[in-house]
Amino acid sequence: MYAEILVQYGSKSLDKTFTYKIPDSLIDKVKIGMKVSIPFGRQNINGFVTNIKSSSDLNDLKEITGIINENFVLNKELMELGHFIKSKTLCSLITAYQTMLPSSLKVNKSKEDYTLYDVYVKLTDNNVLIDDYIKSHSRAHSQLEIIESLKNKTILKKEYNSSTIKKLIDEGIILEEKHARTRINPEKKNKKEVILNEEQKKASTEIKSHLNEYITYLLYGVTGSGKTEVYMDVCDEVIKNDKKVIMLVPEITLTHQMIQRFYDRFGDDVAIIHSSLSDGEKYDETMKIINNKVHVVVGTRSAIFSPVENLGLVIIDEEHSQTYKQDNNPRYHALDIAKWRCEYNKCPLILGSATPSLESFARASKGVYKLLELNHRNGNSVLPNVSIIDMREEYKKGNSIISTELGIKIDECLRNKEQVMLFINRRGYSTVVNCSSCGYTYKCPHCDITLTYHKTNNKLVCHYCGYTTFKSDICPECKENAIRNFGLGTEQVESFIKDAFPSARVIRMDIDTTSKKGSTDSIIKGIENHDYDIVIGTQMISKGLDFPNVTLVGVINADESLNIPDFRSGENTFSLISQVSGRAGRGEKQGSVILQTYNPDNETLKYVKTNDYYGNYFNEMKIRKLLKYPPYYFITSVKIKSKNYELLKNEVNKIASFIRNGIEETSICLGPTTCPVFKINNVFRFQIIIKYKFDKHLEKTLKDLDEEYALNKDIQLEIDVDPIRI
Ligand code: ADP
Ligand code: ZN
Repeated sequence: MYAEILVQYGSKSLDKTFTYKIPDSLIDKVKIGMKVSIPFGRQNINGFVTNIKSSSDLNDLKEITGIINENFVLNKELMELGHFIKSKTLCSLITAYQTMLPSSLKVNKSKEDYTLYDVYVKLTDNNVLIDDYIKSHSRAHSQLEIIESLKNKTILKKEYNSSTIKKLIDEGIILEEKHARTRINPEKKNKKEVILNEEQKKASTEIKSHLNEYITYLLYGVTGSGKTEVYMDVCDEVIKNDKKVIMLVPEITLTHQMIQRFYDRFGDDVAIIHSSLSDGEKYDETMKIINNKVHVVVGTRSAIFSPVENLGLVIIDEEHSQTYKQDNNPRYHALDIAKWRCEYNKCPLILGSATPSLESFARASKGVYKLLELNHRNGNSVLPNVSIIDMREEYKKGNSIISTELGIKIDECLRNKEQVMLFINRRGYSTVVNCSSCGYTYKCPHCDITLTYHKTNNKLVCHYCGYTTFKSDICPECKENAIRNFGLGTEQVESFIKDAFPSARVIRMDIDTTSKKGSTDSIIKGIENHDYDIVIGTQMISKGLDFPNVTLVGVINADESLNIPDFRSGENTFSLISQVSGRAGRGEKQGSVILQTYNPDNETLKYVKTNDYYGNYFNEMKIRKLLKYPPYYFITSVKIKSKNYELLKNEVNKIASFIRNGIEETSICLGPTTCPVFKINNVFRFQIIIKYKFDKHLEKTLKDLDEEYALNKDIQLEIDVDPIRI
C-alpha cells in the first residue's frame, strides 16, 4: 500500500504530495488525515496523509517511519475544507491545514500527549497486605500510616511525603495510577430561567423549523434585545437532535460574559477555543470536541475550524466585527468558512448584530440571507438618549477633553452611584509629539508613522513595530524647550478624569492594562462588582459587555474613526459608536450617551444619534455604488513590499501591467499607489486595487503572479481577496 503525503513545509514549491510506501506493520493503522513521520532528503519530517492507494508507478519509494498521533485524524470535511481555503486565499494546502489546528496538533509538532495527569496511589492488594505482610515486616510508623490510610481507597500521590511513598512503590506494596484531568472544567452556576418574548420567539421558531437546511439568517437586533437568548434557545434544540454547534465571538476579552452565559446554560457540554488559552488547554478543549464530549464550541475566529462531527448550527455573533478576518496568511474570513461548513453539513448559519455589515444587510435585502429582526430591548429597558456636543465651541471655552455637559453628567452619575464608560480609541497619552518652535515631529525611524507618548513610563512608542525611545522636553532639532503633545489617548483621559473627579474610582482598559493573563477578567469582575465608577477604554469596551449599572457613555472623540482613510470608515464609525452607546442603560435605568465631535454636522453621527441603521445603510450604499466599492463590486488588494525602494518602484509597474493584461475588461485595476502607511519596519509598501463584479480570469492571474514571486527574496507580495480595509 502507498500513501500520498503533504509535507510540513509551507513553501509554495512544496505544495504537492509525495508518495511513500506504507510498511506492513502500519498497513492497518495509517488513515487519510493522519499525521505521520517520513524521511525527506536527509531529514525526518512530518506530513499529512492525503490519500491511500494500492499501487504506484514510482519505484524505490521510501517508507513511512511512524504515526505521530493515532488519536488525531483530520476528518474528511476538514480535508476538503483545506482545498477551499487554498483556492479562496491562494495559500498552500499545508498552510490551510496548519491554520485549522491548535499548536499542539500542528503537523510539525511531534509531542504526542499533552494530557495532564494526576497521579494517584492505592494498595497493590488490600487484604493480603494488612493482615500478613505488614506484621511480618518491621515498618516505620510513617509507612504503616500510609498503608492504613489507603485501605480500599485511591488517593492523590502528592498528599504523601514523596520519599516514604517512593519506598513503598519500589517494594511493590503500593501502585501508581494515572488519571487524565482536563484543565478547564466549567460549571453551571446560575441557570437563569428565561422565557423568550414575542419577537425572540418568532425568530427562534423560524430557525428551529429549518434545522436541516442550509439557510443563512441575519438576526438584526438592537443592543440588549436578547440575541444571545435566541442563540441559546436554538442551541437547545440542536443539542436535542444530538448535533453540534459552533458559536463565534469577536474577541475573547470582550466576550468573557458570553462564555459565562453559555457555561451557565450548558455547563460542561461547552468547549472553548481562543488564543489566550495555553497549548495544554487548547489541546484539552480540542480533545473534548474530537471525542464527542461536547455539543457546543464557543470561541474566536479559529474556532470555526473545530473538528466537530455532525455540525448542526453555526452562530457568528457581532458578525460585522473585523476580527473575523485573519490579517495574515492565509487571509480567510470566518464567515466564508462558516458558509462552506454549513452548506457541507446542510445546517443553518446565524449572523447576529445590532449593526450588521453593509454586505450582510445588502444580502438580506436581496433575499440571499433571511432577515430576522429584534426591534426592542428586553423588558423595560430602552435605548439611550444620544446628544452630540460641538467641541469647537467647547474648545473656545477651554475644554479640550471633557465638555461641560459630559462633566455635569459624570457628576450626576457618580452622585446616583451609577457607572460611567468613556470611550477613546487610542491608547497611550498623546498620539503626536512635536516641537512648537520648529515643527519637528517625533516619528519612528523604521516606519512612516508618528510615535505615541506613553506617560506611565515616559516613553515614545511606535504602535507598528514596537520601537521605543525616551521623550525629552528639549527639541532634538532646534534645542528649544518646546516639545508639546497633541492627540488624545486613553492615558491622558485617565489622568484628566482622576484630577477632575478625585473621589471616583477609575479604571483604564486597553491593551496596555490587559496584556497580563487574567487581567481582563479581573477588570470585568471589578466593573460588575462596582469596584470602579468610571471605565476608560478603547474598542475593547465597545462590544459584548452587559453592565446594568452603566448609565452614561461618553465618546471623547467621535471623529477619530471617521478620519481613517478607508471606504469603510463611515460604516465602521456607525457600528463602533452604536455599539459603545449600546453599553448604556441596559438595566432598569435609562441611559445617556454623549458624543463629542469637531464635526457635529457629520451625517454618520446624526444617524448614530437617531439610532437610524437604515438611514446610515442607504446613505453608505449610495456612496459605495458611486465609488464602485463592495457590496456593489468585489475587491482584491495586492500589496507589494520591499526593503529596496528603487527595485520596488520598477517592479510595481510591471506587476500592475501584468494584472491589467490578465483581467477582464469590465474589471478595474487601480494603482500602483503607496499604502496609507508607506513604510513599516523599514519595508516600503505599494498597493494595487482590483475591483470586479465577476472575473473568470482573475484567480488564475493572481496565482501566476503569486508563483512568479514565491521565491523572490527581495519582493514580497501580499494578496488579499476581499480585504477588510485598504
Ligand atoms: P444582545 O445579545 O442582543 O445584546 P442580550 O442577550 O445580552 O442582548 O440581552 C440583554 C439582557 O437582557 C441580558 O441580561 C439577558 O439575559 C436579558 N434578557 C434578554 N431576553 C430576555 C428574556 N426574554 N427574559 C429575561 N431576560 C432577558
Ligand atoms: Zn516603527
